[in-house]
Amino acid sequence: MSESLATVSYLGATILFILCLGGLSNQETARRGNLYGVIGMTIAVLATVLGPHVGSAGYAWLIGAMVVGASIGLYAARTVQMTQMPELVALMHSMVGLAAMLVGFANYIDPVASAHMSGAEKAIHEVEIYVGILIGAVTFSGSVIAFGKLSGKISGNPLLLPARHWINLAGLLVVIYFGREFLRAGSVGEGMTPLIVMTVIALLFGIHMVMAIGGADMPVVVSMLNSYSGWAAAATGFMLSNDLLIVTGALVGSSGAILSYIMCAAMNRHFISVIAGGFGTGGGTPAAAGAAQPAGEVVAISAPDTAELLREAKNVIIVPGYGMAVAQAQHTVYEITRLLREKGVNVRFGIHPVAGRMPGHMNVLLAEAKVPYDIVQEMDELNDDFPQTDVAMVIGANDIVNPGAQDDPTSPIAGMPVLEVWKAKTSIVMKRSMASGYAGVDNPLFYKENNRMLFGDAKKMLDEVLVALKA
Ligand code: NDP
Repeated sequence: MSESLATVSYLGATILFILCLGGLSNQETARRGNLYGVIGMTIAVLATVLGPHVGSAGYAWLIGAMVVGASIGLYAARTVQMTQMPELVALMHSMVGLAAMLVGFANYIDPVASAHMSGAEKAIHEVEIYVGILIGAVTFSGSVIAFGKLSGKISGNPLLLPARHWINLAGLLVVIYFGREFLRAGSVGEGMTPLIVMTVIALLFGIHMVMAIGGADMPVVVSMLNSYSGWAAAATGFMLSNDLLIVTGALVGSSGAILSYIMCAAMNRHFISVIAGGFGTGGGTPAAAGAAQPAGEVVAISAPDTAELLREAKNVIIVPGYGMAVAQAQHTVYEITRLLREKGVNVRFGIHPVAGRMPGHMNVLLAEAKVPYDIVQEMDELNDDFPQTDVAMVIGANDIVNPGAQDDPTSPIAGMPVLEVWKAKTSIVMKRSMASGYAGVDNPLFYKENNRMLFGDAKKMLDEVLVALKA
């Protein structure tokens, strides 16, 4: 393939990636968006493999690597549970970081890559390598820790070292100092030491940064690492002089940053304080998930009584959360919704921006169960409607319906906007026990006079509600 054909293909792929991002911003166009992304990526890979920079001698290696990579990807995509999605995403981000690091070192060692360079051009190339490895290493180790935290392999509590901000600042100064040493080095042998020292510091910084973040800030961290992985890819693009990689990396980097900002706004958190870490550490003691003690009396309700309340209601709002995903209850939820709508009940879904364990988690599950898009609404769209609602049904959600976020300034989730289900005539919370949610805080909603608890696995209880509704 000639240079110009490769450039045209890259341009086409870039346009498809932009259309992909545009499509993904709306549930109805998400499938099409995904398709654009797949076609764009296929064109990008083909144009690179068949392009002018790969000789036929490299094909065996490339095909071998692609078969191994694609097999692992296919296996992971087929076996991953929906609830493990954030962990998988974190792991994938770590791969982008690792790739940027490895490309950086390979590029520095490769005598051909910089043979024709001298003066300013060589210095710029070396800065690209240094910065590329730096971003790659932070992304790699940070994402591995995020994976550990999200999968429960590492404690979700924030680790707060004394003087942690000073440690970070000292690390930054050392990285700048060694950057100067790296650029001054006369040979690859001489430059390798500062490069390795910087890499070790960047890896430690990535670990430290994510270890310090906990509780409900984790979703923001995942999207922030998504952004970092984009910048790491863009840095790789600079090192390899690959325009498509630069553009794609910048697209991922900036969309991840915008998503992080939107999520911070949704949780009433400042981006800087998320990065600085320490969420849920009121008074310096990290909140332990599930450790909160129940503080009051609750009123339980049975499945048939729940069905009765739903049957008599005119307006119902369903608020799904992480528990619906765990129980895989979305199909039964859809059946109940269909039945109620046939009976003339106005049923809507209220989706909190951080419900579940990843952005859009609930939307994906409800779309899978074929719940019509027009009754799935965002928190802001229906939060004022709870006073006119007869039944608010909370399915396996906890933190996102916690009134303490509004009433209790000492709560670890104080200030996070929540769905005001307690303002409905009756709220029903479905969960298995009195255990707390992800942020590890007790929920005063459970003890309110107009609240009922339907204890049990969400799928099992909803099946019973469905049977009672049909009776
Ligand atoms: P929560 O984690 O607050 O609560 C989920 C509730 O579901 C638990 O209290 C649990 O109670 C219940 N549950 C678990 N399994 C079942 C089951 N099989 N059947 C019925 N209930 C079940 O979830 P929310 O969705 O309310 O809030 C999301 C939280 O996760 C927020 O704190 C958010 O910040 C955080 N987070 C969000 C991410 C995102 O991007 N969306 C990513 C990472 C974290 P019990 O054990 O008693 O059944």
